[in-house]
Amino acid sequence: MGGCVRDLLCGIVPKDFDIATDATPEQIRKIFKSSRIIGKRFKLVHIFNRSELIEVATFRSGENILNDGDLIKDHSGKIIRDNIWGTLEEDTFRRDFTINALYYCPSTQKIEDHNNGMKHIHEKIIVSIGDPQKRFSEDPVRSLRAIRFSNKLNFKIDKAIKEAIYDKGHLLSSISNARLFDEFCKIFLNGMAEKNFNKLLSFGLNRYLVRTDPELNEYTYNVMIEALRNTDKRLHNDQSVTPGFLIAALLWPQLVEASKQKGEINLRKYFRSMDRILREQQKITAIPRKFHGYIKDIWVLQLKLHSRIGKQPYKTLKHPRFRAAYDFLLVREKASGESSYLGNWWTNFQKNDNNIKKSLIEKLHEKNKEESFKKFGFSEELR
Ligand code: ATP
Ligand code: MG
Repeated sequence: MGGCVRDLLCGIVPKDFDIATDATPEQIRKIFKSSRIIGKRFKLVHIFNRSELIEVATFRSGENILNDGDLIKDHSGKIIRDNIWGTLEEDTFRRDFTINALYYCPSTQKIEDHNNGMKHIHEKIIVSIGDPQKRFSEDPVRSLRAIRFSNKLNFKIDKAIKEAIYDKGHLLSSISNARLFDEFCKIFLNGMAEKNFNKLLSFGLNRYLVRTDPELNEYTYNVMIEALRNTDKRLHNDQSVTPGFLIAALLWPQLVEASKQKGEINLRKYFRSMDRILREQQKITAIPRKFHGYIKDIWVLQLKLHSRIGKQPYKTLKHPRFRAAYDFLLVREKASGESSYLGNWWTNFQKNDNNIKKSLIEKLHEKNKEESFKKFGFSEELR
């Protein structure tokens, strides 16, 4: 049901198949040996089938049972617990958008459509089930989902939803950082990052996923877009992507800004700001521990890529994060519109043999060493 039926009808290969049933989590758990019940707010069953994980949800009924202890909302109307079982039809009314409320029944081989989902797929429009003002208050993440689906499917967003995004988008600040990190990954690591970012920006929602100044200056915007574009390109080429790289890149302009002193990078400030900037982002979207070292490595390596004295370039090249740091250097150069002198130097240095490596270092003039921060790469960024 849901996303996979929608995607198949739109000619897209679904990334997973969500299953919904009238069996309760406990009943499902009994039938499938290798399964477990997850979640509290929203109980689901994970069934493990060879290397695959299948998520199974039980049909839920909606809000007509407000007094029941299993559906609990907070003061803003956000649902915090929701485990009242219901029928398929009732379940459809709890889905976010009509196009996501299609159920393919394997025994009748028919699609159950109680909310005009098929019609809206044909009309290429995202329409809310129920009043979006109310539905987006219940769960503000639906704003992000509307934006993501509209780009993924190339669908328009219904006017009432647009208004709800403007009116209720600010409620995203109440969503847990763990959930927003998941959304961050879904929205920026799906091959549509650039488009998604621009749409988020047009609704003013970008700041709920990435900490930035309300007024994005041109350089900040350029770095972000180049990094997102780079991620999209890698995904289209079946190359690996990590949220770590993207976070390092998206927060980079803040690090430069925080380390600025008299038109130069102040190293003391630089090192001190790294943890603070990560901590502040962490308040919005959790950043799993394993990425912290990676992000800081990329940042520290930016300095090392600039200083190419003596044996330093050999050491830098051997660093396990060299490749990521070099890729990021290229992103920075593109974003600042500066000549790619330093990037080209490293491109040559890594691909050539020892003799050429040696001469590349020798060719660097004394003058370049002194001016390395200002002259190559950082100068545009420090403006
Ligand atoms: P994709 O997997 O491509 O991101 P999807 O539509 O399958 O898209 P999931 O997050 O896998 O999205 O959710 C499966 C289904 O559960 C959705 O199609 C939708 O019907 C419902 N759903 C998910 N999140 C919400 C939500 N926040 N509010 C209401 N319904 C939701
Ligand atoms: Mg899905």
